[in-house]
Amino acid sequence: MALTGIDIFKKLPKTNCKDCGFPTCLAFAMSLAAGKSELSRCPHVSEEAKKELSAASAPPIRAIKIGAGDSAVIVGGETVEFRHEKTFVNKPPLAVLITTDMSDAEVEAKVKAIDFLKFDRVGFVLKPEMAAVKDAGGGAVKFEALVKKVLGYAACSLILISDDIEALKLGVAACGANKPLLLAARADNADDMAALAKESGCPLVAKADDLEGLAALVEKLVAAGVKDIVLDSGARKLKKVYEDQIVIRRAALRKQFRPFGYPTIAFPCEMATDLMMETLIAAALIAKYSGIVVVSELKGETTFPLLLERMNIFTDPQRPMATDQGIYPIGNPDANSPVIVTTNFSLTYFIVSGEIETSRVPTWLLIMDCEGMSVLTAWAAGKFNADLIAPFVKKSGIEEKVAHRKIIIPGYTAQISGELEDELKSWEIMIGPREAAHLPAFLKNWAVKSV
Ligand code: SF4
Repeated sequence: MALTGIDIFKKLPKTNCKDCGFPTCLAFAMSLAAGKSELSRCPHVSEEAKKELSAASAPPIRAIKIGAGDSAVIVGGETVEFRHEKTFVNKPPLAVLITTDMSDAEVEAKVKAIDFLKFDRVGFVLKPEMAAVKDAGGGAVKFEALVKKVLGYAACSLILISDDIEALKLGVAACGANKPLLLAARADNADDMAALAKESGCPLVAKADDLEGLAALVEKLVAAGVKDIVLDSGARKLKKVYEDQIVIRRAALRKQFRPFGYPTIAFPCEMATDLMMETLIAAALIAKYSGIVVVSELKGETTFPLLLERMNIFTDPQRPMATDQGIYPIGNPDANSPVIVTTNFSLTYFIVSGEIETSRVPTWLLIMDCEGMSVLTAWAAGKFNADLIAPFVKKSGIEEKVAHRKIIIPGYTAQISGELEDELKSWEIMIGPREAAHLPAFLKNWAVKSV
């Protein structure tokens, strides 16, 4: 049974010294109970209390790092079943499967897609992150050579898959500081795999044929001293994998069942022969609740939708996606180019900038910080009105960039044009279209008139 904030508070020093970054011990205790902080933030807690609290205050699903440097990924660390309860935190990396029986050209193409498939979307860079290198026969040396080849083609973190412990050892050595995820410890090799994971400092996948076997295997690995574990229930049919993911997440969060307090890995690449079906399966498992998703191919038409779905699920629902305030030149604008002002809701920025690009009329786009609200919401909330737009325009630096003094405001805020004219006396306020889709025609017309 999880401890409440009050239970935890009783075991803290109660000096309110603030060294943990919280104003009081009670505030820290509440944060610990909610799984938002770690006990190590309090340097004054007694050893006895530490023992009692460490298990109770550990995150319900352990966060695990794979790899090193910029290409490292963190999986797990989730604290809720449903995104709207708080937020999901560590998006599941997409890994592409590479095997020792692939040709050099095939390996090169698949691995290079990891860096090639990069998409800019509403201020985020979306890309796959990992390669899953599988030993399909050929011996340990061939496996080691493939690991080196993969690392030579892309900066990514790795999953090493082999039944041959010697092959895994060579693979781990080839990775150096880029600690890979090892797959897999099973009932029959748990001791050897636990020893390799501990010796190398690599995280380890525990794989069983069912959930009962998985729980027993995890307990064995933990008893052997392995801390960073990823779960594979062994199922490869969608219905069973889906059920297992939910059972594991619920057991970890609702029952604090420690053997399932780890992220999971799923293999859509082993669950379908058709890439579209595989992608549908991957989409279902990104939503519920795979920590890592291994696919057979990275192609734009299948990878982009998965990355987009992942982004939408793993953004904080309590914080609107926002673009930085500033001047955005689109299409090399000059001193005679139109000036448009709008809010910093990312979707607004994305749609408006897209329509400006479509128009092929070089334009200065002024993005004003409205706490990530869309135009109408910001206007209704008093965040996008003449009193705020005028000082923003004056301070933005746009007056140094254009020779004219005409500014286009969104059509839905036409009612502020009079007040804005009063505030921006040297500027002519022009009413833009209500819908962004009408911007290209509007801008072309503006360009013709201004010639
Ligand atoms: Fe209390 Fe420890 Fe935080 Fe100090 S550091 S306020 S003793 S919880």
